[in-house]
Amino acid sequence: MLVILYGLYRWAARRVAYRNDYCLSCADVRLAIQVRTFDVGHVFCVPLLPLGYRQRWFCSDCGSNPHQRVETSQRFKRFAAFIFAVGAIFFWLIPIERPEDVPIAWGLRLVVTAMFLGALAWCRTAPPTSLKELLTTVPPLPRDACALCGGALDERAFCGACKASRLEVDVPFQPGRQLTSSSRPAKQVSAAHEREKGYLLGSGLFVIGVGMTIHSWHTALQHGYYYPSLSAFGPTLACLGLAALLEPVQFYRRMAHTARTGRREPWGTLPRSQRILTIIGIAAGLVNYILLRA
Ligand SMILES: [Zn+2]
Ligand SMILES: [Zn+2]
Repeated sequence: MLVILYGLYRWAARRVAYRNDYCLSCADVRLAIQVRTFDVGHVFCVPLLPLGYRQRWFCSDCGSNPHQRVETSQRFKRFAAFIFAVGAIFFWLIPIERPEDVPIAWGLRLVVTAMFLGALAWCRTAPPTSLKELLTTVPPLPRDACALCGGALDERAFCGACKASRLEVDVPFQPGRQLTSSSRPAKQVSAAHEREKGYLLGSGLFVIGVGMTIHSWHTALQHGYYYPSLSAFGPTLACLGLAALLEPVQFYRRMAHTARTGRREPWGTLPRSQRILTIIGIAAGLVNYILLRA
């Protein structure tokens, strides 16, 4: 809802420049176009906050920001491995007291350990090629004619006909330069790929959360003690996992974005299912804690 309450208008869009660029989404050299807009922040659709002129680059082929990463960063892979390592250590540390618990306990241990090993193997896959290296393969465009309209360029590489400037990427082109096999170009990651990762994270969180809840009830009923933090944290984790399973692509993208930029998503922009399940999760954690205390 909050997303609709306020936002950004981009007015007076105009093409101001172009250059040859490497588009990470297309995984190839593409013509990129810089568009200038006058941005105004709005509240309830009333334009209130003029932010001035802003320029952004677009790929002429796919429309995305050419330098926006599409491949999973190493940081995100390591983060996933860390989460599963914590889960695996947790399940290996829980003692198995009753013989009838043995199959469940070993099942959980093996599943979470397998997830950890899978995440480790994922960490070992090659990191995406650095953008700087890819940019050395971008040839500059012709200096005499405008790539947008075909008009003549003046000595400042400015097209008088369509009022666009010819620019180049900062990294100089190296003719004949080939990427080695170890530095393969970034490949496009489809939504299906992101969905798999979302499901992986979601199911991991869900299994760990349910395991913690079962464990705290088990020790409370059988032995008369429990860990308060586990009893409250378990249901919260399980609900978070469930939220990820409901919208795996969204969940993955947000996690990856947070891992990349270090910025947390504002609560208002989270999908509704995630907000509801987070509240339910915290409530369930509290209820679980209170029930166990009684
Ligand atoms: Zn593109
Ligand atoms: Zn032109």
